[in-house]
Amino acid sequence: MFKSTATAIAEDVWKVECPLPGHSIGHLNSYVIKDGNTVAVVDLPWSSEEVLTSYTEALASISVNLADIELILLTHYHEDHAGAASWLQKLSSATVYMSIEDLETMNSRYRNNGAVFENALKDWLSVVGADTELSEFAVAQFRELKQYGEELPNAVALTGETDIRIGRNSIRAIPAPGHTAGHFMYLYDEQILFSGDHIFTWGTANATTRPISATLPFSSHAETSTKISKLGARKILPGHGEALDDFRMRVAEFQKQNSVRSAEILEHCSEPKSVWDIAVEGSHGRTWERFSPNSKLSILGETHAHLLELEKEGLIERLDVAPHIWFQTSITKTKEKIKEGIEN
Ligand SMILES: [Zn+2]
Repeated sequence: MFKSTATAIAEDVWKVECPLPGHSIGHLNSYVIKDGNTVAVVDLPWSSEEVLTSYTEALASISVNLADIELILLTHYHEDHAGAASWLQKLSSATVYMSIEDLETMNSRYRNNGAVFENALKDWLSVVGADTELSEFAVAQFRELKQYGEELPNAVALTGETDIRIGRNSIRAIPAPGHTAGHFMYLYDEQILFSGDHIFTWGTANATTRPISATLPFSSHAETSTKISKLGARKILPGHGEALDDFRMRVAEFQKQNSVRSAEILEHCSEPKSVWDIAVEGSHGRTWERFSPNSKLSILGETHAHLLELEKEGLIERLDVAPHIWFQTSITKTKEKIKEGIEN
């Protein structure tokens, strides 16, 4: 039997670490702020009975009853951060905040049986050239994930930087796109930043192209990193894993890994290729087959995001067929050749 645990991390702020069985990262950090008599939570685990039972127990261990919660602040729409928001809102009458973009995306996953989101997912899979096996996995995974979340009909849609009152203090909701198009972060008492899935102490897959994602995830992600550096928060608390003790160094490492990857991808485009071809051929020194389906989707999303940045820089072009075919701008002649091939 697993257990969620609440740990004090500052005066009046707790981290509740919730295990999420079956999730690729395995757990979520939900944060609790008590200011006077007001209780706010930043992000919630997904909605499954065992997870919610353990979450409720962890809150009780720090003397928080669900009914006491007045504010639910969501960084983005993914089920592992927002799935239980509707459940908690019904039990507490709390006000829920989420960006207008992510609220729309979230609701598109549940309305009309998720048709809008599922079609966007299928379009993206065809644009990147995913094979039948991985496409079927992605659609099945989406349908399964839906059981852990619900539509949010009564949330406040954030459209820009907003101050939200909590007790004697305020929390600033700040747009932080990159991980999703409408990703937000929350700054409490000018000192503690809840940074959602912007960056972790490990990995590089925080900015990827997926259905209904940011237009240029890496550019948005870099702008958000600059914004965070300027805030000068004393603590930066992510949605998964440990606090980011040296944010600037971590961002520099993240950007370095990504510029190496970007150069590799540009190299691959010396011949016309789909996102799928590039991902399979440059699969990080491992055989593509050995990656889990989830990792394959991440690599495709990352590769796609890099290609869009290279396109913006004018270094590569694409043919808008399905799947998209990418190639270095210097080989425009090849484009004519492929076009001929398609037309004939
Ligand atoms: Zn996420």
